[in-house]
Amino acid sequence: MSRPITAGGRQVPDQASSAEEQLSLEEAPFRVTSKRGLNRRTTAVRLAPLEAALHFHAGQYVLLADLHGEVEPRSYSVANAARPGGELDLVVTAVPGGQASQWVHERLAVGDKVLVSGPYGNFVRGSADGGPTLYLAGGVGLAPILALLEEALSSAHSAPLHLIFSARTEADVIFRSQLLEWQERHSNFRFIRTLTRASGEPPLGRLPAQLPRLLGSLVEQSVFAAGPEGFVDECAGVARQMGVQPRRIHTEAFFLEPQPWGERVD
Ligand SMILES: Cc1cc2nc3c(=O)[nH]c(=O)nc-3n(C[C@H](O)[C@H](O)[C@H](O)COP(=O)(O)OP(=O)(O)OC[C@H]3O[C@@H](n4cnc5c(N)ncnc54)[C@H](O)[C@@H]3O)c2cc1C
Repeated sequence: MSRPITAGGRQVPDQASSAEEQLSLEEAPFRVTSKRGLNRRTTAVRLAPLEAALHFHAGQYVLLADLHGEVEPRSYSVANAARPGGELDLVVTAVPGGQASQWVHERLAVGDKVLVSGPYGNFVRGSADGGPTLYLAGGVGLAPILALLEEALSSAHSAPLHLIFSARTEADVIFRSQLLEWQERHSNFRFIRTLTRASGEPPLGRLPAQLPRLLGSLVEQSVFAAGPEGFVDECAGVARQMGVQPRRIHTEAFFLEPQPWGERVD
């Protein structure tokens, strides 16, 4: 059974705009307008709508599929805030033996058509999130956080915004120049990277365990954590222990979907 890509699993964010205001696409054609390797494992693709644009909130994800139904649709977070031309940036890390991520890496090319549906998810800024915000990204979990940051930095949001990005090695610190540029331009934004599998400049080691040391009180903060399931669960746990209100803790777990969708994989 293939995964239904209708609005079945769609969740509506508790944001200002209502579900009615948000145009949801069942499945629409997009064209790949650029593709660039960020490192050995991670590729960024830009998609432009061929028909209707997809209206989404920063932080949401879409389902990406090939035109011929040869690859199972997979969830990818949109890595940019909404643009006038309706373009979507996706950042895909190759999973060993993974069907969709390997297709994006190996075969998808500029000019190809793909199918996109969505938007999905509630990893979005809510009405309680107007104050200082801590973003915690594990690996490619940076993707929806880039969108949230782009939105916050281009708005009147003046409260402190901190990003702690946990990567394996320096080569895995994707979008470093973008993040440093934002840090240079916006005095309320600070970016720290931590490495889990390499030596070098501190901080090093697993992020959730380091949070109390890296930051003082989190009581007034909103926290957005995205990345592997274990990473976001631990981040949310530490945030709760550090006094963050549950309604201000937002998580997006990049779990691997079953193969094929709808059937259990043991
Ligand atoms: C909300 C959400 C947002 C996400 N956003 C992103 C994002 O922005 N960027 C990103 O890179 N990823 C993201 N992901 C993860 C993404 O959706 C895919 O899960 C990931 O790319 C792997 O998909 P795949 O088709 O390549 O791998 P799959 O083919 O699903 O394989 C996954 C793993 O299972 C193994 N496997 C395959 N078939 C079987 C089988 N029959 N039995 C046992 N094991 C098997 C594979 O070897 C592989 O290790 C997100 C996930 C979610 C849920």
